[in-house]
Amino acid sequence: MPHLPQTDRSGKPIGPDALGSTTAPLLESPYCRRCRRGVSIRINGLGVVTYQHANKRGDNGDHDPEPVPVTEIPDPIIECDFCSAPDAAWIYRCANQFSEHRRVTTRVVSVSDYRSRHAAARVRRTDTEHAVTQAWGERWPACHGCADLIEARDLYGLIRRVVDALPAKLTRGKHLVRVRGELHATYSEVFDTLAPGRGRIIPGHPLGIWPGTETTS
Ligand SMILES: [Zn+2]
Ligand SMILES: [Zn+2]
Repeated sequence: MPHLPQTDRSGKPIGPDALGSTTAPLLESPYCRRCRRGVSIRINGLGVVTYQHANKRGDNGDHDPEPVPVTEIPDPIIECDFCSAPDAAWIYRCANQFSEHRRVTTRVVSVSDYRSRHAAARVRRTDTEHAVTQAWGERWPACHGCADLIEARDLYGLIRRVVDALPAKLTRGKHLVRVRGELHATYSEVFDTLAPGRGRIIPGHPLGIWPGTETTS
């Protein structure tokens, strides 16, 4: 499940209480039964939980996800949550993070500006409303390259690596500053709440073999 920045993301982690009236149980680490890939969890303003393929484009391809726990899929395709490499080797645990996505409802431009400039009128005020909350989950699979940077607690090295792996349209021009800021906020929280140790992902153990245990957790 790649944790990629969203274009409408506020960049501000919010607490689970922001889920409001959500009562539906959330699947931990959901994967799609059909394509064996990670699925991300989104909760809209009414508390309705939806699942979406966690790919770079954010679309669902040719099918809607059929989310099931990863342990129910014989051979899941586990991508690095950081750089999206297809061969996650380790799994880290940290506090669950939620991020709020806001939707623009009103853009206010000045009348004179609009008359003279039309579409190029400067926006004087932008109103947004809560659109959806995304749950990132507690488990973060990582490839060898990202895991090395996590072990070294190299926050900026990790951000650089992930930015380099992102599609160019997400990091072009002014997007780059915002993306870096969002990754910094998300990964700082990951580093701050990282549980000790890490699990080794091997076939048959998608949740990792953790030190001192013989089974998945
Ligand atoms: Zn699928
Ligand atoms: Zn990676």
